[in-house]
Amino acid sequence: MTRSGGVGGGPGANRDAIRDAIRNSFREDVRALHAYAVAPAEGLVKLDLMENPYVLPPDLARALGERLGQVALNRYPPGEPASFKQRLAERIGLPAGQSLLLGNGSDEIIHLMIHACARPGATVLSPWPSFSMYRMTAELDRCRFVGVDLRDDFGLDLPAMLAAMREHRPALVFLSYPNNPTGNCFDDEAVRAILEHAPGLVVLDEAYLPFAGRSWIGELPRYPNLLVLRTFSKLGLAGLRLGYLCGAPEWLGEFDKLRPPFNVDSLTLAAADFLLDHLDVFDAQAATIRAERARMITALRAIDGLQVFDSAANFVLLRVPDGDRGAGDRFAHLLRQGILVKNMTAFHPMLRGCLRVTVGTAEENAAFLDAMKQSVE
Ligand code: PMP
Repeated sequence: MTRSGGVGGGPGANRDAIRDAIRNSFREDVRALHAYAVAPAEGLVKLDLMENPYVLPPDLARALGERLGQVALNRYPPGEPASFKQRLAERIGLPAGQSLLLGNGSDEIIHLMIHACARPGATVLSPWPSFSMYRMTAELDRCRFVGVDLRDDFGLDLPAMLAAMREHRPALVFLSYPNNPTGNCFDDEAVRAILEHAPGLVVLDEAYLPFAGRSWIGELPRYPNLLVLRTFSKLGLAGLRLGYLCGAPEWLGEFDKLRPPFNVDSLTLAAADFLLDHLDVFDAQAATIRAERARMITALRAIDGLQVFDSAANFVLLRVPDGDRGAGDRFAHLLRQGILVKNMTAFHPMLRGCLRVTVGTAEENAAFLDAMKQSVE
């Protein structure tokens, strides 16, 4: 290639040269991948990504803006934000002797954990269907991913989980609690049995904690192989990209070696630090979302033909009649009405005909429910 990228034949030849270079130098599995798809949502009622629909109250937003204005953007973020971590540990009731690792969203921490364990032949295991990134990240790191099918009621199939752990000896087990996309929390005794029998680490992913109100953080001292993963995203700060991992300092020290330096930027740290003093605002928003969730489930159950699953998260999974086609038609109908949900039908056979809808504001939920009703008339 010449410096302009050409091999002497104009723009078309440039493209061919680039394609050749990608074929010759890029990993085949990366070339075969699709980028994580985020649906365009401009102007739509956005009920696809489990975001909190509420913004900050204006006074708080203004005070936050002032605080952010004082951040020294000419400097790199602190190497170890010790005082923020200390304050966060107090707020979340981190048991003594446990540590925190911060990540650019919990997605990054999932990546760090898998990367650290990705020895040749390593296995990552999760009940399935669950959060797609567990599988995607494991496979990118050339781990074997074992998904153990959930029971029909979306509970853990404990005998199958234990058998799979015996057979595959996973380095990491991920339990999304509540589970995305099914919305349920797994049975306590089953989780304990997994913690007791896992040959490696068990990550309880508590992304939806604000809507479940149940946590494993207090169990950290009891189970040395337990790690608790959390995020600020679902609480109402998805734009900040801040996740954190709680667990024994020995584990976290290993992951920390792989953490890109300065992975959490100064504005995120300053915003999170400021908002730690205002968690009551987010708690009140989460309470409203939980009440809306109950209303939404009742209203959906009153619509003929829908199967509506219980939820401990800020989304509801529902099954419409007619499988793939039914879900596709409903999804398209909702979109025509300006409402974006997530069509889960192709993700796993257990999700055939399923849509996942995030709980929004009362108005957004009413618009969604109206459109759903129209779709069955
Ligand atoms: N864990 C689960 C179970 C999720 O559903 C998500 C996002 N949908 C994440 C982790 C990632 O969250 P974030 O990177 O925004 O912290």
